[in-house]
Amino acid sequence: MTASGVRVRIAPSPTGEPHVGTAYIALFNYLFALKHGGEFILRIEDTDATRSTPEFEQKVLDALKWTGLKWSEGPDVGGPYGPYRQSDRKHIYGDYVEKIVAAGHGFRCFCTPERLETMRAAQRAAGKQPKYDGLCLNLSAEEVTARMAAGEATVVRMKIPTEGACKFHDGVYGDVEIPWDSVDMQVLLKADGMPTYHMANVVDDHLMKITHVARGEEWLASVPKHILIYQYLGLEPPVFMHLSLMRNADKSKLSKRKNPTSISYYSALGYLPEALMNFLGLFFIQIAEGEEMMTMDELAQKFDPENLSKAGAIFDVQKLDWLNGRWLREKLTPDEFVLRVLEWANENGRLVEGLKLAQSRVGKLGELPPLAGFLLANDVGLTPASFAGIKAPPAETLELLETVQADLEKILEWNVETIEAELRAIGDRMGKKLKAVVGPLFVAMSSSQRSLPLFDSMALLGRSVVRQRLKVAAAVVKSMAA
Ligand code: GLU
Repeated sequence: MTASGVRVRIAPSPTGEPHVGTAYIALFNYLFALKHGGEFILRIEDTDATRSTPEFEQKVLDALKWTGLKWSEGPDVGGPYGPYRQSDRKHIYGDYVEKIVAAGHGFRCFCTPERLETMRAAQRAAGKQPKYDGLCLNLSAEEVTARMAAGEATVVRMKIPTEGACKFHDGVYGDVEIPWDSVDMQVLLKADGMPTYHMANVVDDHLMKITHVARGEEWLASVPKHILIYQYLGLEPPVFMHLSLMRNADKSKLSKRKNPTSISYYSALGYLPEALMNFLGLFFIQIAEGEEMMTMDELAQKFDPENLSKAGAIFDVQKLDWLNGRWLREKLTPDEFVLRVLEWANENGRLVEGLKLAQSRVGKLGELPPLAGFLLANDVGLTPASFAGIKAPPAETLELLETVQADLEKILEWNVETIEAELRAIGDRMGKKLKAVVGPLFVAMSSSQRSLPLFDSMALLGRSVVRQRLKVAAAVVKSMAA
């Protein structure tokens, strides 16, 4: 335990590509720990077993390591309050849930997913906010025992006060009041015996002695449930701080459908982690114009958690580009620059593996840049002319590109085999030969019809770059179809 006792955490769920928003929240917590001489810890929240994957967990760890933030406890480094992955802590939560039920604050619910869906549909149709109607709230102990003994599927829900409001103080929002009737009787323990996010999150923050919970504003509405769980367990809640989400300049939410949001996209394109952290850190400090360039130490000195705005952090890519350019030109020595370029070029082995793929296709080494350069390029310079060799009409190519884009999102593990299988399945479904599927994709990825093997290239480029190239290609083809 540090002198201040301050302990903060970043608690990502490994259900997708690590988002720049995670780096933003992680940075806040990291700077908060530095300012208070506290500990910054990493916890993996993988209670959603259907959406969490080991690949995404690895990516979260890699992406956060790339940012340069360092955690003193986590699944990779261990620590006194481990394990730090919730699926490894399954055995811990049951007792806490039982305690809530035994004290009469929770109840067994036997409603089937079908019944709940019908109930919600009816509520929506009546213009009401869907929430549990309390059918199982007052089942007798005998009935519960009998139904459980008969093997009926059951979850545990928490009881919610029927009147009044939950009042609490948030470090960013100030005094907040949320009426209890807008709070759902949250499931705490799922039918498969796994806790929900809410249950596991509270228990772990308690057991890991977290003093301050700083996270995205999308969790503000969950605070009443969390405060109630703390109360039901006789525990003291931490201090809450809900940070405004990063948004686009038009105030819309950052979403991968609109613009690249994964950390790996920015590293693949050659942004320096120092520049990205500098850019994100400016949301947490007050500075004058001309003082924007800051190292992590400088950010920590100016960090001012008392003075955060609720206005929202605008993800201004031009500003990020400007900062990145300055970092590259002004902050690195020539030798450091070269080292960083080489590291970047071979990120995830893309240069070495790309050269191996190219070996059988070159007559002279000088042919390599046009052949394999697309693996490193930010933009492959697609124009309608790039698609000149594609025989299918643009509307058909557009449909293909959009289908591929949507279907690749469903791949849980991103590798040569899964990409190939998905593209073959798309061909079958759309009644197209594999050649007709891969042709436009070669162009979308490399702007050429002759490049490196497609599936391997897509695997090396990574999800986020492939997503962006498909999006650009679709826009170009759309302009041709119009
Ligand atoms: N697992 C949650 C997320 O990924 C964490 C929210 C929290 O910090 O409590 O957003």
